[in-house]
Amino acid sequence: MTMVQAARLMEAAGVCVAVYDHEDRLRYANRAFRTAWFIEKDEQPLWPDLMRRNFHARRGTVIKVENFEAWLASTVSRRGKAGFRAFETDLHDGRWLWMTETMQADGWMLCVASDITSIRPDERALRQDRDDAIRASQTDELTGIPSRRFVMTKLNDLLADKGNDDGPHWGHVGCIAVLDIDNFKYINDRFGHSVGDAVLKDFAATLQRHVRKTDVLGRVGGEEFVLVLPNTAAGEAEEIVGRMLEAVRISRPVPGQVSFRYTFSAGIACAEGGEKADDLYRRADLALYAAKMRGRDQISLDPTMQLG
Ligand code: GH3
Ligand code: MG
Ligand code: MG
Repeated sequence: MTMVQAARLMEAAGVCVAVYDHEDRLRYANRAFRTAWFIEKDEQPLWPDLMRRNFHARRGTVIKVENFEAWLASTVSRRGKAGFRAFETDLHDGRWLWMTETMQADGWMLCVASDITSIRPDERALRQDRDDAIRASQTDELTGIPSRRFVMTKLNDLLADKGNDDGPHWGHVGCIAVLDIDNFKYINDRFGHSVGDAVLKDFAATLQRHVRKTDVLGRVGGEEFVLVLPNTAAGEAEEIVGRMLEAVRISRPVPGQVSFRYTFSAGIACAEGGEKADDLYRRADLALYAAKMRGRDQISLDPTMQLG
């Protein structure tokens, strides 16, 4: 079979097929996909833009939320973070779809959706309740970003990865950063709990803008967050977290109070494949402690880390 024949079959297929690149831009969609989500033949929209315009036009995927942008930000923080994902979704035209997402390590995603409108409609509500419950357990309620449970699962996935090293010893598989807001107790005591919550939301949203598609940011405790960076060297992790430090410094989380600002500190540790999550976390936490001791609003690298 030639590529041309494959492409022709794909175009005629009843299943919806699409490919998104590492920036979440649609790079391929067959006719069935373009019809279901109202996409012109040679158009290559970004996934958030596609979802937004369909939401406002009340077509494509049914999204039952009041605040679309909050839904989008929360969904983007989890989108493409699993190697494979399958879920049900309904369209405004009444069709019910079974959708799968297959991710590659470079961030490209294959999306396939089949029409399952005729399959067990009586059990649909039950299945959707189950999916909603799973989504809730993976999401931090206050900030909308991944929960402790979700980010810890990603961390364990990372450590199960053998890395680049094919030898008897497992290699470097990436980095983690533990990020903690500075003097948060003071912020709460001085300005009140609602300002504290506004800072937490601002912190999550500000960091999320600097999270690459292959990385995961989650809230693991009160004002403590974890960033998992697969296939990333220490220097690169430091650059990314450095950009986050700068973004938080210039952020003004309380509208009308331009003098109110906050900072955070971060500890970074390199992950070796096969290592225990607890041990890695402890090393990152020690680095965080060192950053706090040195005066906060800075990054510290795990001193036991071999660089190079
Ligand atoms: P450091 O710079 O050393 O990290 O100091 P800190 O004050 O940030 O650290 P500490 O751990 O002493 O205080 C954390 C505070 O976070 C304690 C608690 O009042 C507050 N907190 C925890 N969870 C929440 C939350 O969900 N909302 C709000 N508003 N505050 C929270
Ligand atoms: Mg703190
Ligand atoms: Mg803390």
